[in-house]
Amino acid sequence: MDTQDLAARIAAGERRALARGITLVESGRADHRVQATEVLAALPRDRQALRIGLSGTPGVGKSTFIEAFGMHLLKAGMRVAVLAVDPSSARSGGSILGDKTRMDRLSREANAFIRPSPSQTHLGGVARRTREAVALCEGAGFDVVLIETVGVGQSETAVAQMADLFLLLLAPAGGDELQGVKRGIMEMADMILINKADGDLKPAATRTCADYAGALRLLRKRPQDPDGFPKAMMVSALTEQGLEAGWADMQALVDWRREAGFFDGTRAAQAQYWFEQDVRAALLSRLETGAAKQAMKTLGAQVAEGALDPSIAAARMLDVLGADFGAPWVDPVPDSP
Ligand code: GDP
Repeated sequence: MDTQDLAARIAAGERRALARGITLVESGRADHRVQATEVLAALPRDRQALRIGLSGTPGVGKSTFIEAFGMHLLKAGMRVAVLAVDPSSARSGGSILGDKTRMDRLSREANAFIRPSPSQTHLGGVARRTREAVALCEGAGFDVVLIETVGVGQSETAVAQMADLFLLLLAPAGGDELQGVKRGIMEMADMILINKADGDLKPAATRTCADYAGALRLLRKRPQDPDGFPKAMMVSALTEQGLEAGWADMQALVDWRREAGFFDGTRAAQAQYWFEQDVRAALLSRLETGAAKQAMKTLGAQVAEGALDPSIAAARMLDVLGADFGAPWVDPVPDSP
């Protein structure tokens, strides 16, 4: 395949070429990896989409929200891409997010692109693939890239680390609902959207929203937040109420951050974070391949038998790794033949 040609077609906004590019970055095959890197390198570097991360537990209304919100953005003349990070598919091969029947309206729109989550790999790999898919969408000229994830595992951290804005979608609840959301996740949120604020659920949504607004005020103020942020607000993906106001708030926040230098600053810090993560992952992968894997096993057994002191065994292991260092980079868990 001619990777320069593929990159050119992605840059021209061709969705089929984009889908093909994403298939390349998701592949575990070494030759695909090389091609993916070539395509990424050949994309225009002057394009920037607004990257919006969205997290919420299954059933909270993520796909309904993304569809309604996405349609709203399309009407405003924007091109919208939707990507998913689904840790459940990493573990079991089954997906909470990935079925194709979701976002029916949006998927039929010429200016929308929807990609279900990559499956059957470990989260680290999913994060890298999603990050590269975001880069491909930006290269394809999308104005907004929505990155969706479920509220389990470490996927939120990964998504927050690749997004300009991080939204947490919650459903109205009674009683002790605050305990259901981990503090760490709340601390990452720029906006908490209480969905389903319609019909019978409206009163509960109003209470939940007030609870979270109160909880957000108790969090330590972050430098990248103007007054009033992070904020909690009510929306209804079903009736589409609050979507317009929510988008206005997102834009206001982004504008402020651009002015204040936090937008570029955050992106720079994120790029550095992923560089370091990738180096760490690559180093760890050395432990799982070839001579190093064998040495880990042998030395580990000797430690277990009491024949070797753990720290001496560790030092020997590092010698093995040092000797092994010329080996080519290997994807931590190759997932295709
Ligand atoms: P996801 O699992 O987070 O993607 O959730 P879905 O978008 O599939 O929605 C789960 C259920 O909640 C569906 O039955 C939706 O119709 C319903 N739902 C989603 N948004 C709203 C809303 O704003 N109001 C109400 N009343 N129901 C909603």
